[in-house]
Amino acid sequence: MDLFELTRSLMCVPSTSGDEEAVGFWLRDHLETLGWVVELQSVSENQNNVIATLNDTPRVWFSTHLDTVPPFISPTEDDGKIYGRGACDAKGIIASQITAAERLRMEGIEDIGLLFLVEEERTSAGAKKANEHALAKKCEYMVNGEPTDLDLAIGSKGTFRLKIKTRGKAAHSAYPEEGESAIEKLIEILDDVRNTKFPEDDFFGETTVNVGTIEGGVALNVIPPQAEAGLAIRLTTRREPIQKALESIIRERGELEVLSCSEPVKMLAVDGFEQKVVRFTTDIPYLTNWGQPLLLGPGSILVAHTKDEYVLKADLERAVELYVDLARRLLNGGARP
Ligand SMILES: [Zn+2]
Repeated sequence: MDLFELTRSLMCVPSTSGDEEAVGFWLRDHLETLGWVVELQSVSENQNNVIATLNDTPRVWFSTHLDTVPPFISPTEDDGKIYGRGACDAKGIIASQITAAERLRMEGIEDIGLLFLVEEERTSAGAKKANEHALAKKCEYMVNGEPTDLDLAIGSKGTFRLKIKTRGKAAHSAYPEEGESAIEKLIEILDDVRNTKFPEDDFFGETTVNVGTIEGGVALNVIPPQAEAGLAIRLTTRREPIQKALESIIRERGELEVLSCSEPVKMLAVDGFEQKVVRFTTDIPYLTNWGQPLLLGPGSILVAHTKDEYVLKADLERAVELYVDLARRLLNGGARP
């Protein structure tokens, strides 16, 4: 099965987060046919990470995720591109990594492992589970794949997801002095957040804040008794100072609820590759036991998660070459920390 056929075959199996079982089985069967030893690591009742090896203790691993965002979009193609869900995020990457590993194997290099994870797009539960695996400690380099336009990402911003909640007192809207508006309080807090200068880091760049959701109130003629806003902050520093700043903005006007957080991470730089910092988060912060992380993949994050997701066929081919080159250099000690 060639690279494009493998990409399309993987894309044909729907695997929205929470529904990765079938694609895991498909990959296990495919890799076993090629002669890999495959373990399905259970993450939940119907979600398994796929772990494939050729020897007992691979030093270099390729990894990415099995899940996609909804909705499923079946693959189509023309001469230059493959379109559909997972084209670049991340089934084209899975196909490139398998093809690269097979090419290395043809050269007699079997010091390679494959780690394909569930739940990257939601909770990183697959990565967290994989981090407990015994093979992690033997891994020296983890080449993770996400759409980086084939540049080597040397840093990725963190993501801090939180809610700001306010409470008031319901009253008839004609008698506002009898109540206290939770929405007015929330608006004031959010305005203060918008006027706050968050840190800028020389390496990672700007901290950005997105107020993604606002909910609150009960009816047009009732002073709203509760309100909340959901925020996603792209971190360039550790979470702690940002959380402290938010708490001092909110004061007694409301409360902050932490939903999740991944800290920003620096990854291995290697000479001869185009390098950049990416703004999105990956599974890498949760794979701390898996050696030194690197991040590179075909396709653009700007089309991932959209209805127009695609990947250039030429980029898939180039990704295979880059993965092969990276793995060879990492195994030969040719990378620079
Ligand atoms: Zn992805």
